[in-house]
Amino acid sequence: MSKYDRLDRFGVMDIDKEEYERKQAYVIKNCKCPSCPTFVPGDALTGYCFPSIGTSDNIKAEKDCICNTCPVYKEYELNHTFYCTRCSQVCQALKIEGAAAHGN
Ligand code: SF4
Ligand code: SF4
Repeated sequence: MSKYDRLDRFGVMDIDKEEYERKQAYVIKNCKCPSCPTFVPGDALTGYCFPSIGTSDNIKAEKDCICNTCPVYKEYELNHTFYCTRCSQVCQALKIEGAAAHGN
């Protein structure tokens, strides 16, 4: 069983503002998006999988997603893709897995 909450993979529900900002900076520092074929420069922040970053203002076309090569993806056991266009891990989890869970 995963050590992470199924929906709150980054564990942001239980941390204070300082810890949240530390974790966000860690995600951005390790993010592989700038070397992805889909990436278009111009957003203030990458790390689109993290809850508060939001989708990209500049990326409009999905080509390939290299999130599964990213250390953050592996460390936090993420399981979605195209965070830049489709929304964050928790957002996609709620839309897809949350909807499925409600259907059970
Ligand atoms: S999983 Fe994807 S969006 Fe998240 S930090 Fe890694 S490359 Fe960036
Ligand atoms: S979220 Fe995925 S598709 Fe989007 S830029 Fe990052 S690696 Fe590429």
